[in-house]
Amino acid sequence: MTYKTVAIIGGGASGLMSAIVAAQEGHVVHLFEKNAHVGKKILASGNGRCNISNKNLHVSDYYSRQPAFAAEALQRFTFHDFETFCFQIGLLLDTKKDGRAYPRSYEAKAVVTALRRYALQCGVTIVTDTFVEKVVKNRDHFHLHVNSHLYDAVIVATGSQAAPQLGANDSGYAIARSFHHHIIPPYPSLVQLCLESTCHAKMAGVKQHAEVTLYVNNKQEEQTQGDILFTKYGISGFAILDISHAASLALQSQQCVTLGIDLFTQTPRPKLLKLLHDTCHRLENYSIAEIVSLLIPSKMVPHLLHAAHIAPQTSAKMLNTKTVKQIVNLLKDWRFTVTQTHGFQHAEVSGGGVDTAELNPHTFESLQCKNLYFVGEVCDIVGRRGGYNLHFAWASGYAAAQAIST
Ligand SMILES: Cc1cc2nc3c(=O)[nH]c(=O)nc-3n(C[C@H](O)[C@H](O)[C@H](O)COP(=O)(O)OP(=O)(O)OC[C@H]3O[C@@H](n4cnc5c(N)ncnc54)[C@H](O)[C@@H]3O)c2cc1C
Repeated sequence: MTYKTVAIIGGGASGLMSAIVAAQEGHVVHLFEKNAHVGKKILASGNGRCNISNKNLHVSDYYSRQPAFAAEALQRFTFHDFETFCFQIGLLLDTKKDGRAYPRSYEAKAVVTALRRYALQCGVTIVTDTFVEKVVKNRDHFHLHVNSHLYDAVIVATGSQAAPQLGANDSGYAIARSFHHHIIPPYPSLVQLCLESTCHAKMAGVKQHAEVTLYVNNKQEEQTQGDILFTKYGISGFAILDISHAASLALQSQQCVTLGIDLFTQTPRPKLLKLLHDTCHRLENYSIAEIVSLLIPSKMVPHLLHAAHIAPQTSAKMLNTKTVKQIVNLLKDWRFTVTQTHGFQHAEVSGGGVDTAELNPHTFESLQCKNLYFVGEVCDIVGRRGGYNLHFAWASGYAAAQAIST
């Protein structure tokens, strides 16, 4: 095998993985990172605990214009392969019953330290505070404009635009475009949503377990259960992050996006109707606000009754079946219009990116330019919440670095 000189642009998850694997194969590896330190996004991941991968990986956990594209990389670098790799670099994993894996220390810092330390041990040259703006190919070699070296191969691992405060930017897309790649328009994902309503800001701080249904042009698109949290701008919480991909994609194409919120997931509508009816009967001297505040957080009560067009002071004995039904309708399906996402600034990941139709699914090599690779989130692949995005970064970084040796 002839050893090559490899430039890796971006010292995040996919770049560090590529660097280690390529250096282990004997190649000369230079890794360029614009920040002062590598792995800034890994440090922020999982609220500093780093949900590093997931035992239950399947291609259906990923979204892309080419939905099957990720399958090859996931098969070639499985969760078991990742566990073995982690063991090699000194990291032990703790895997939860639902499949989510974390470093045993539950500290993202340990992940970055292990990757960086091992990359150096393998002989990777890490060049920080260096922003690679341009890549040029002359015959068989690449030049990066940050030094005078000529490289046999370049791996672009610049990530996406999500969370610019951590160093994210769109330079990877610009490099791809300069090699005639098509970029699927990026959109924020795993992100909070902004609402158009008179009440969400007044309910800020209210956290509830709920079933959230996402409607696009009044057609049900997604449904999930989990926590929701009302905020000044709209709504957050795990259930919202889980449906945010579909919401963001629909908003990007100017479609009408609505949320239906069921605050009584365990109670079917007829049972809730009977419960409320009976309560009104039993406590007929109570106001309806008093009765509803026995069911949901008091901060929500005036707004729910306002939406039901019922005055809060109305006595329970004055309520007829129609008005009780109106309240139950809102408890089971309170609708909110989504105006936009909370943006790339607050998103964990980005959908869109380098069109995977123009990449080799075995190697992540560009079909437009030999020896140029795109890995990680710069590609048009985005995963669900739960360690899927980091696993794709590891798997794609591994695939590209392996391919350099063939
Ligand atoms: C707050 C937050 C929490 C998250 N939590 C999780 C989680 O728990 N589990 C999970 O699976 N995923 C999580 N993610 C997503 C995950 O971190 C990313 O999908 C993953 O880091 C992508 O890896 P990457 O290598 O493609 O890009 P990145 O990790 O973003 O790395 C790209 C690197 O390239 C550098 N760079 C960019 N352009 C240039 C350039 N032109 N020249 C030089 N350097 C450049 C950047 O500074 C950056 O260090 C989270 C993301 C965020 C923002």
